[in-house]
Amino acid sequence: MSLNKIFMTTALVACGLTMTNAQEKTKPEQTEVYTPVPKIVQGAAVYTAPPSDAVVLFDGKDLSKWVSTDDRSQPAKWTVADGVFIVNKKTGGGNIETKQSFGNYQLHIEWQVPANIEGKGQGRGNSGLFLASIGKGDAGYELQILDSYKNDTYTNGQAASIYKQLVPLANPTHKPGEWNSYDVVWTAPTFNDDKSVKTPARVTVFFNGVLVQNNAELKGPTQYIGDPAYRQAHGPSPIKLQSHGDPSAPLSFRNIWVREL
Ligand code: MG
Repeated sequence: MSLNKIFMTTALVACGLTMTNAQEKTKPEQTEVYTPVPKIVQGAAVYTAPPSDAVVLFDGKDLSKWVSTDDRSQPAKWTVADGVFIVNKKTGGGNIETKQSFGNYQLHIEWQVPANIEGKGQGRGNSGLFLASIGKGDAGYELQILDSYKNDTYTNGQAASIYKQLVPLANPTHKPGEWNSYDVVWTAPTFNDDKSVKTPARVTVFFNGVLVQNNAELKGPTQYIGDPAYRQAHGPSPIKLQSHGDPSAPLSFRNIWVREL
């Protein structure tokens, strides 16, 4: 290759990169990552009884600590039965979130995909734990919940990813019909007076006892399409659970508690 050709190629590559960076991403596929695939690890779901200073968000009895995200004056319309509650995926079920708002916290939650789950990829046992539900055009910061047992999808959208931002360090997802646990340490973002971000959000997650997010920094609220960024300042926020629109059978949750830090 002549020097001239090398120069031209370099210039074109540089130009192409600049154009790609400048282009707004308009398709969901543009922010999907597929490799490397996190290794599969055998973990063990952790049941931890709420510590004495925890706020118990679900004790097996009722959803009195939760409301409908669509209308916070309305109770959570998900089903409680046999010490667990089940996502309501019917029209009008919607997402649910806590009545109380939280800043920095430690949280424990257990979730189970039904044994008879069908579908694939993002359409198989999809829910989500939004670590802060901030509204105003942003859904919040989603720690993905998904059946990632022998179910390939983009790695930054599998179970325990921070959706389309942070790939989990391992995949210890239990098979459908078995319980999984997340133990989360959430450090909320802080903002300057001019509403610019002062310190970004950080998250640590243990998934079935396995470290999968290690004090990882978030680039902003999670986005289905486009790159994340901190576009609005916010303070303490509710914690939200997702009723995802896919047709697969609904997940169950149990033993949810949070300790404010
Ligand atoms: Mg989800």
